[in-house]
Amino acid sequence: MYKSLVIKVGTNVLTRPDGRLDITNISHLVDQIAALKAAGINLVLVSSGAVGAGRELLQVREGTEEVARRQVQSAIGQVRLMEIYRQLFDNHSLLCAQVLATKGDFRDDLHADNMLNCFRALLLDKVVPVVNENDVVAVTELMFTDNDELAGLVARMLKVDALVILSSVDGLFDGPPEGKASQLIEHVTAGDESVLSFVQEKKTSFGRGGMATKLSIATQTATAGIPVLLGNGRTRDILAELIDGRWPGTTVS
Ligand code: GLU
Repeated sequence: MYKSLVIKVGTNVLTRPDGRLDITNISHLVDQIAALKAAGINLVLVSSGAVGAGRELLQVREGTEEVARRQVQSAIGQVRLMEIYRQLFDNHSLLCAQVLATKGDFRDDLHADNMLNCFRALLLDKVVPVVNENDVVAVTELMFTDNDELAGLVARMLKVDALVILSSVDGLFDGPPEGKASQLIEHVTAGDESVLSFVQEKKTSFGRGGMATKLSIATQTATAGIPVLLGNGRTRDILAELIDGRWPGTTVS
């Protein structure tokens, strides 16, 4: 059984098709995370959704440039997102903490050490760290490709037993995921380039990453010795399977 995990949830798992936060699914994810904690698994949550949460709250004024719009929406939305997590974790008598990072924090040894020390202290105190990109200051070269990259870096920093990436698809398929004839690929050997031909270029609606970046991050992380589990964050009780060491999606190792 896994003793430590990084779990990344994408925007499309946290929002409805119209872009509004899907509180029902967020609540179900928190219930599952609480069950993993109760089973003795140390975990860090990497959560997108700040920009989506902000988009719902404020109509940014016309003419605002795209970078500033994203900064404003994430600044407002991150507060709302964390308040939702705070309340939901509180139902399980768990505290959560906000950790915001930029790519620069992983390049700078002192910043990386400070972050690692903070994660360790939070985990010792049984707090659930909720990590997101600091979208307020992460612009251009400080920006991660997407939160999959951030999650991969956190997983490697903490040397966890596995990285779980939840999106709105079940995993990697040998054809279009919606196609009836397509089969889920249960296992991919890290570095096996033959699977790249199966990757769909089409990205699901709101998140920044797609299956191509997921697979590239998964390969890097798995090559560093951390298996990556790709799965659907809307599948009921998907995280509960981990308690028994099972995974219904694609495992890259
Ligand atoms: N950090 C962004 C947010 O919280 C999401 C980035 C991504 O889609 O990977 O909204």
